[in-house]
Amino acid sequence: MRTRIVVLGGAGFLGSHLCDRLVGDRHEVVCVDNLSTGSPTNIEHLLGAADFTFVEADVALPLEIAGRVDAVLHLASPASPADYLRLPLETLRAGSLGTFHGLELALRKDARFVLASTSEVYGDPTEHPQPESYWGNVNPVGPRSCYDEAKRFAEAATTAYRGALGGNTCIVRIFNTYGPRMRPGDGRAIPNFIHQALRGEPLTVAGDGRQTRSFCYVDDLVDGLVRAVHGTTAGPVNLGNPVETTIIELAELVRRITGTASGIAFVPRPQDDPYVRRPDISRARAEFGWQPGVDLEAGLAATVAWVEQSLARAAVPAGAPDRPTTPRGGELR
Ligand code: NAD
Ligand code: UDP
Repeated sequence: MRTRIVVLGGAGFLGSHLCDRLVGDRHEVVCVDNLSTGSPTNIEHLLGAADFTFVEADVALPLEIAGRVDAVLHLASPASPADYLRLPLETLRAGSLGTFHGLELALRKDARFVLASTSEVYGDPTEHPQPESYWGNVNPVGPRSCYDEAKRFAEAATTAYRGALGGNTCIVRIFNTYGPRMRPGDGRAIPNFIHQALRGEPLTVAGDGRQTRSFCYVDDLVDGLVRAVHGTTAGPVNLGNPVETTIIELAELVRRITGTASGIAFVPRPQDDPYVRRPDISRARAEFGWQPGVDLEAGLAATVAWVEQSLARAAVPAGAPDRPTTPRGGELR
């Protein structure tokens, strides 16, 4: 069915891929973003499309979208640790006021609301892997609390709207996701390692690199979000790739794929950096029939190819005959 879908945070990394997918599936998309950590270049190829509208707005302020709305997805929040450490109050407002405004919009329009929550609600987990039933281990006054607690509040607000007002809501908890369009200065491990490798600089591995993450390719994650929109479950539902890797293994893989001569530089681990993280995706399998299909090596190769293309494009003056076309996302090899 053709639907009209509002994507809050649609000019960001994940949001722009989601907009691409939704427009490709022939839905009408309204992308709302204040461009704080997103970029117009992520959506510039969509701007002329009849089924795509961009609204520059801050979700922390009251939000009105004219006309019918069938679904609201709330992805508007700084997401990289470097971003939310720089923008702690904005992050708290996006998760609290922004969630209320998204929920109110969805309720007014009788639309489904999908909250993009995070594996960070589990904090530094004492249960491994993490099922949705695990309540988490979060430091409420630590440096990451502006993000973790904002998302925990957003989950509570979404749950209360459903219980008190009958909202059609869904919470998804997204685990580390990567792919084309992550900014060079994003600060997360994968864009850092790729750009460092391509510049011939040492890859900055935090601590001894034995901490783990489970990295999901963006196309897989977006497919899970789309299933959440079309489903009826309230969640929470974990979305992530259950294949766990250490950060040192990740760095070695990036070195191999890029063929760089860069070494490794061990740097201090940030405070409260979770030691392990791996989703139990039984619920996503059962509720959405979803599981990721792209393995880390293939996803990283596509991401490296996209970064190389972006750098080449930036190096060639606009209008030059051999200027590469706008990178639209890596092709999986
Ligand atoms: P991103 O920073 O690239 O995208 C976030 C987008 O939200 C940006 O375009 C930004 O400009 C916009 N935004 C931020 N505050 C806003 C506000 N007040 N009003 C309007 N727009 C605002 O990050 P991302 O990685 O694409 O993450 C998207 C969402 O997914 C976030 O909510 C994040 O918490 C969640 N998430 C992402 C990951 C991941 O690994 N990428 C993991 C868990 C959860
Ligand atoms: N990390 C690292 N080097 C970097 C950036 C991050 O070793 O240049 C580590 C970070 O300390 C964490 C892991 O990689 O242990 C994943 O970090 P990221 O910021 O990508 O995601 P998050 O901490 O949100 O899971």
